[in-house]
Amino acid sequence: MTTTPAGPRPVRAPRGTTLSARSCKGWQQEAALRMLHNNLDPEVAEHPDDLVVYGGTGRAARDWASFDRITASLRDLDGDETLLVQSGRPVGILRTHEWAPRVLIANANLVPDWATWEEFRRLDALGLTMYGQMTAGSWIYIGTQGILQGTYETFAAVAAGRGDGPDRPSGDGLAGTITLTAGLGGMGGAQPLAVTMNGGAAIVIECDASRIRRRLETRYLDAWAEDLDEALRLATRARDARRPLSVGVLGNAAEMVPELLRRGAPIDIVTDQTSAHDPLAYLPAGVAFEEWRERAAAKPEEFTQRARESMAAHVEAMVGFMDAGAEVFDYGNSIRGEARAAGFTRAFDFPGFVPAYIRPLFCEGRGPFRWAALSGDPADIAATDRAILDLFPDNEPLARWIRMAGEKVAFQGLPARICWLGQGERAAAGLRFNELVASGEISAPLAIGRDHLDTGSVASPYRETEAMADGSDAIADWPLLNALVNTASGASWVSIHHGGGVGIGRSVHAGQVSVADGTDLAAAKLERVLTNDPATGVLRHVDAGYPRAKEVAEQHTLTVPMRED
Ligand code: NAD
Repeated sequence: MTTTPAGPRPVRAPRGTTLSARSCKGWQQEAALRMLHNNLDPEVAEHPDDLVVYGGTGRAARDWASFDRITASLRDLDGDETLLVQSGRPVGILRTHEWAPRVLIANANLVPDWATWEEFRRLDALGLTMYGQMTAGSWIYIGTQGILQGTYETFAAVAAGRGDGPDRPSGDGLAGTITLTAGLGGMGGAQPLAVTMNGGAAIVIECDASRIRRRLETRYLDAWAEDLDEALRLATRARDARRPLSVGVLGNAAEMVPELLRRGAPIDIVTDQTSAHDPLAYLPAGVAFEEWRERAAAKPEEFTQRARESMAAHVEAMVGFMDAGAEVFDYGNSIRGEARAAGFTRAFDFPGFVPAYIRPLFCEGRGPFRWAALSGDPADIAATDRAILDLFPDNEPLARWIRMAGEKVAFQGLPARICWLGQGERAAAGLRFNELVASGEISAPLAIGRDHLDTGSVASPYRETEAMADGSDAIADWPLLNALVNTASGASWVSIHHGGGVGIGRSVHAGQVSVADGTDLAAAKLERVLTNDPATGVLRHVDAGYPRAKEVAEQHTLTVPMRED
C-alpha cells in the first residue's frame, strides 16, 4: 500500500527510555531518528514548516517526502546497514558492519567551479540539492544553546583582551561596556545572553519581530525597546550601573548601525550575526519586512545586489565605530566578503572572531562538544552536568559555564548541553557518560556530537581558517580527512557539507555524532571517535606551525610523522 506523502506538520522527537514496536531496531538508528525529528521540533527549528532549522535556509531534509522516507528507512535499518543521504534525500541502504556509521550524509557539495549561489539555487529549485548549514542537515542542532557557549567564550575572550585577565575570576569582564550587534535568529539569538553572562550591556537590532519575541520568551533577551532612543537610554543606564542588560530593537541594521554611528553612540564592542552569508537572507535597507521573501524570490539577482549594497553601508559603519575606538569583529557570517563584493574596500579592516579569539582554543583540540538526552528527561542532563563538574574540578571557567547554563538555559526540544572540551577531555566525558547510561544513572542513551565549527572539521577562509599561520586557509583536505577518520573510528553518523556558516563556495566541513548507549561496543567506539575527532584539529594546527598545537600533540602522544624533532 502506498501512502500519499504528508506536507508540513508539527514534528517532535519520540521520548522515553526503551525502544518500542514503533521504534528503530537499535539505539544508533533510533538516535538518528530522534535527532532528525528534534531538529524540526517547533521549539528548536526557526521555520519548521519549510524544514528550515537555522542559519538562513539550513534544512534537515530536502522535502517532506524525503523526511518521511528517511524516517521509514531508519525504522527499518539493521545494525549492520548504512543509510546514504544525499542533500537531505535518502538514496540507498547498503550492507556495511556494526562499527560503520548507520547514516552517511553529504549536503550541498558542488564541484568547485560550479560552487556559486546562482548554480546552487538553480539546482535547489529543481529539487536536486539542499542547503544543510552545519548541524541542520547533520541532525545535531540543539537550539540556540548550541551556540551560546561559543558566544559566551568569545565575549569572555573579548573581556580578557580588555584587561579582565585570563582567569576571569569575576566573570563580569564586560561590566561597564555596551555591545552593539544585530540578528536574533537561531545562532544570533545567543548574543544577548552571552554578553549579559559576561556582565555587559547589549543592543541587538533585529528586523523580524517574531525573533525578538522568541528570544524574550526563552530568556535569551531581557528587554524590547520601542526605538533606538529607548535602546540607548536603557543600555547606557545599565552600563553606568555596571549591570548586565540586553535590549532588542526592531529595525534594519543597515540603517540603524550607521544611524548610531552618526549620533556618536557610546558603543564599546561591535559585531553582527544577521544571515549575511546568504544575500537573499539579509534584508536590504528600504525593503519592507513583509515584502522580503516575495521580492527575493521574484528577482534574486537584483535583490542580491541591493542586499550587498546595504551590507556595505552596515560594514562601513562598523569600520566607523572601529575608527572611533570600538573593538569590532566579524562573527562568522561573511558580511565583510559581501560588503567587499559591493565595492567597500575597507571591509576587511576588522578581523574575524576566530583569528582574534578562538584559534588558541582550536590548537588544544578544543571546540563545541555537545550532547542530547534521548529520554527527553532533563534529569539526565543534570546528571551529565554533575559528571562534567566531577571530571574537570580544576577548570573554573568550565564549571562556571555549567552552573550558569543549568540556571539560565531553557531547553528547546530534547534536553541538551554544550561545553567546549579539548583533546583528551572529550573522550573522558564520553566514556563517563556511557558508564552512567550503563549503570542506569542516566535513563536512556545520549547522542554526543558537535558543531562543524570545530578544531579539525572545517575549511572556511572567512571564518575558522582565516589567516592561518602558514597561509593554508583554503585547503579543504582537513575536513574530508576528519569525516573519513570519524567513519573509520565508529561514529554513529558522519556528514560532509559545503557552504555552511559563510555560504556557498566558501567552506567545506564535516560532522559526527556518536551514541552512548551504555554498551561495551559504544565505549570502544566513543573512545576512538572522541580521541580522533579533535586530534585531527590538533594535527591540522601542528601542520600549520602553531607551537601550542605541538605541545598538545606531545602531551597526548599524537604521532606526527613530519614533526621536526
Ligand atoms: P538566522 O537566519 O536564524 O537569523 C538571522 C537573523 O537576521 C534573522 O532573524 C533575520 O530577521 C535577521 N536579519 C536579516 N537581515 C537583517 C537586517 N538587515 N537587519 C536586522 N536583522 C536582519 O541565522 P542564524 O542561525 O542566527 O545565523 C546568523 C549568521 O551567523 C549566519 O550567517 C550564520 O551562518 C552565522 N553563524 C555564525 C556562527 C558563529 O559561531 N559565529 C555560527 C553559526 C552561524
